[in-house]
Amino acid sequence: MGKILIINTGGTIGMTKTVHGYAPDMEKFHENLYGIPELQNNRICEWEIIDMNPLLDSSNMTVEDWNKIGNIINRNYEKYDGFVILHGTDTMAYTASALSFMLENLAKPVIVTGSQIPICEIRSDGKDNIIAAMMIAAAGIVKEVCIYFRGELLRGNRTTKYSADDFMAFKSPNAPALAEAGILINYNKEILLPEPVGKFYFQQLETIPIGVIKVFPGIQFNLFSNIMTEGLKGVVIEAFGAGNIPGSPEALLPIIKKAFENGTVVTVCTQCFQGTVLLGNYETSNALKTAGAVSGKDMTTEAAITKMYYLFSKGYDTKTICRLMETGLRGEL
Ligand code: ASP
Repeated sequence: MGKILIINTGGTIGMTKTVHGYAPDMEKFHENLYGIPELQNNRICEWEIIDMNPLLDSSNMTVEDWNKIGNIINRNYEKYDGFVILHGTDTMAYTASALSFMLENLAKPVIVTGSQIPICEIRSDGKDNIIAAMMIAAAGIVKEVCIYFRGELLRGNRTTKYSADDFMAFKSPNAPALAEAGILINYNKEILLPEPVGKFYFQQLETIPIGVIKVFPGIQFNLFSNIMTEGLKGVVIEAFGAGNIPGSPEALLPIIKKAFENGTVVTVCTQCFQGTVLLGNYETSNALKTAGAVSGKDMTTEAAITKMYYLFSKGYDTKTICRLMETGLRGEL
């Protein structure tokens, strides 16, 4: 069993109730964490903890906070065998997706977890989630960024928050679990990402202007014209079904064309919880394809957004970004 670093970013797991609602409480969290018998005397593995300052409700996470987390991993990469990130559930899927791209040639487990009930309250799911996440991080079998929650280890960039109140808060709609934790932790070894060939590298992200447009019946695309062609560098269109858009497809065509010419990358994902975008499969999605929109295939919106942040931060030109959006980089497709 290796030595792991816990990075505490905040989230419900370490919160207490205040007059204004739940908020991070580091002292109380540490009291509870160090009180877990399984964590004492390095029974699971050797571990240390770093608390981010300030601790956040994950709704307040920004690109800068992803950079802070990535920097901590980068600085400590050689010193530890694995990393556990304690994080709020609200944007956990975004952080896990972002880190999966930022941590290039990752050869160690990075396991993101949290809880639906604070660890200081009765019936908390926090203790089990932390213990299993630590065991997985220390075992060193997965070499990628994952979310561990309620018995399942999921590929981070395949995951989406599914329930606001169920103990199993996450689902990975288009990819099976990487491991299941019953009495034993059983890994699905054939689908784990292979050991990387190159050297570990940490890519910082820039705060690129990116937007998401969810289409709906009656949408007036002309209202989005300016932001799509001038304001934003990346747009994720959440289309219907296999990538279909409503109304007259021509309305969107010139906007996407102009956006493409201006260097804006338009990626089409689906509003469906499961399945894939197939641009050109229906007449209603053909316009998107011919105008230069990119197929997000079966990527989650979280993965599409963070992948665009990553590819723009790498400094690639628009054509390369469009090509790489449709290419699997970390198992996100
Ligand atoms: N609002 C909290 C957060 O995302 C919710 C949670 O942790 O479950 O930080």
